[in-house]
Amino acid sequence: LVRLRSRLARSQSSLGKGLLSLLSRERLDDDTWEEIEDTLLAADLGVTPTGELVERLRTRVRVEGVADADAARALVREELISLVDPSLDRELRTERHVEDARPSVVLVVGVNGTGKTTTVGKLARVLVAEDRDVLLGAADTFRAAAVDQLTTWGDRVGVPTVRGPEGGDPASVAFDAVKAGIDQEVDSVVIDTAGRLQTKVGLMDELGKVKRVVEKHGPVDEVLLVLDATTGQNGMAQARVFSEVVDVTGIVLTKLDGTAKGGIVVAVQRELGVPVKLVGLGEGPDDLAPFDVEAFVDGILG
Ligand code: GDP
Repeated sequence: LVRLRSRLARSQSSLGKGLLSLLSRERLDDDTWEEIEDTLLAADLGVTPTGELVERLRTRVRVEGVADADAARALVREELISLVDPSLDRELRTERHVEDARPSVVLVVGVNGTGKTTTVGKLARVLVAEDRDVLLGAADTFRAAAVDQLTTWGDRVGVPTVRGPEGGDPASVAFDAVKAGIDQEVDSVVIDTAGRLQTKVGLMDELGKVKRVVEKHGPVDEVLLVLDATTGQNGMAQARVFSEVVDVTGIVLTKLDGTAKGGIVVAVQRELGVPVKLVGLGEGPDDLAPFDVEAFVDGILG
């Protein structure tokens, strides 16, 4: 969490600083409020949440006043936290199903380039660090490079990867991976899926099929949608499409280390009603952190 805070502080604090300096102005006139609104929109907070936040801040400033910089910070902090919805359940379901003698199954979905494969690798690392036995499934069979990349990640974090023939059926690889996970009595099977957006209908059909086929072994525990935080509203549109095809249980927001547009965290949760469970903060194996609302907001406010 300390790392989350400091990583975000580097990339996002311009948003926080901008907000706080605007709020600390002697006269908060309409122009200033408009500037505050622009700052929030520029950070991809989205139109509706921005409108709501500004309205609440305006009311509170009018009623309570802002005595000094600390008071401004406390005010913004409180309102940002409530905007992120602290009540959403962010727990990752990765426990083995002991009674059914089967592993938990995590499907990782998203458009190519968002950081899906990297996220699978990092997630495996997190689970291994918790002493879990993990197996990876390379169901992105359309890209030989993706399968190799995943296998490399597996080797790196010390977990085996189940792969199929190049160009083979993704659903069958996913099925085999879970089967292997059951036979080998592992705790978790994490499956990387394809994400070619060019063929949207095909991709979505295929993803639905992967899920249905895997479910022959039992319910899927998590469907994690990987979104690139730097893609803004484009990422939001992708998120909508995916959530229509598979029941997304959690969002992984990657590349938060490289953007000042952290508002997407709020926007995507509100739009889909799905919690952000993990955030990607870099390219290395340790650069995946559980999403924590307070650490996130403190990162923004610096
Ligand atoms: P995929 O096509 O969705 O599987 O994407 P990859 O896992 O291959 O990642 C695409 C690129 O994004 C790679 O260069 C990754 O190293 C990079 N990447 C992934 N996650 C993060 C992150 O959290 N932060 C940063 N800065 N780069 C990331």
